[in-house]
Amino acid sequence: MIDTKKTFIILFVSSLFILSTCDKNKFQKFESGSFDLFDTYSNIIIYAESREEAEKISGAIYARLGELHKLFDIYNAYDGINNLKTLNDNAGVAPVEVCGEMIELLKFSIDSYRETDGAFDVALGPVLSIWRAYREEGLLDPESASVPPYEMLKEASDFCDITKIMIDEINHTVFLEQEGMSVDVGAVAKGFAAQLAIDEIIKESGVPCLIDLGGNIAAIGGPPGRSRTGGAWNVGVWDPLGVAGYIKIVAVTDLSVVTSGDYQRYYEAGGARYNHIVDPKTLIPADGFRSVTVIHPDSGVADMLSTAMFILSYEEGSELAEKFGAGALWVTRGGEQITNGEFDKYIVR
Ligand code: AMP
Ligand code: MG
Repeated sequence: MIDTKKTFIILFVSSLFILSTCDKNKFQKFESGSFDLFDTYSNIIIYAESREEAEKISGAIYARLGELHKLFDIYNAYDGINNLKTLNDNAGVAPVEVCGEMIELLKFSIDSYRETDGAFDVALGPVLSIWRAYREEGLLDPESASVPPYEMLKEASDFCDITKIMIDEINHTVFLEQEGMSVDVGAVAKGFAAQLAIDEIIKESGVPCLIDLGGNIAAIGGPPGRSRTGGAWNVGVWDPLGVAGYIKIVAVTDLSVVTSGDYQRYYEAGGARYNHIVDPKTLIPADGFRSVTVIHPDSGVADMLSTAMFILSYEEGSELAEKFGAGALWVTRGGEQITNGEFDKYIVR
């Protein structure tokens, strides 16, 4: 399937284990059911002592994620908030007053640009817009699918300068200094939002919870075993080649498992596949790997790293993972699976 909003990491909650090791009446499993935020299908699973408790917590998480979705939306404006679209529309015009979450995400993104040697670049908006337009066109009419001319990408890249994102923390404003520049936080917004929901709502509630934002998995606590957080969440990593189903299953608690892959959003032109992750150095979609999966305690960091490591070479990515203490699984173009020691700790199969 091409460009579907499909969840590519499947969760395996071992219900037999749960039933055999806990008081069925004490903990109830609650699933929110699929909802559409951040342009992807999502789901929340909670174990709580009552359905009311679970629904209350899951409702609070859903509401918070909804707010953050609006905040980081680059396509739509909403009454009463200055979001990323407001910021982009005001590039070269005026500083925009924004909330603390926007400033935090942009600061994190600018730091990440440095940490990843420019691979992770939220100022790449103008180039990403061109690829998105060609992808959408190519999906609508595969026969005439084409690739943007390099000149067009090069011209757009003149408007991609992350040093022109000016953050004024005293006045709570952000100014994109150059007209025509635009910020796209698609590579980190889901993880960043999940982490905020964890810190603000889930940790306080103390319930085991799993947030699945289109395959960006944040697992807090574990399904109840002998104690409230006795078990671990089993998370399956989808085979990017679409052959084996799940290539690995990891058991995690208080960790996020995030994958960037070339099968998630792509189109084909002239017999080649063009995915949605663009290497800022070449302005062309990265094609070093089929997928990269990252495990890290912070969901925003995991999301940022998986995108960056999809672009970087294995050596550069390994170094980056080590610096962040992250687990990593690379699937090479030939289908070879490479893991680092931190990832190996969590593999159950
Ligand atoms: P992810 O699925 O988290 O790897 O993020 C992919 C999304 O990140 C794309 O759909 C773009 O919106 C955005 N993106 C693509 N390339 C880059 C890049 N080099 N740096 C930052 N964001 C990017
Ligand atoms: Mg990402």
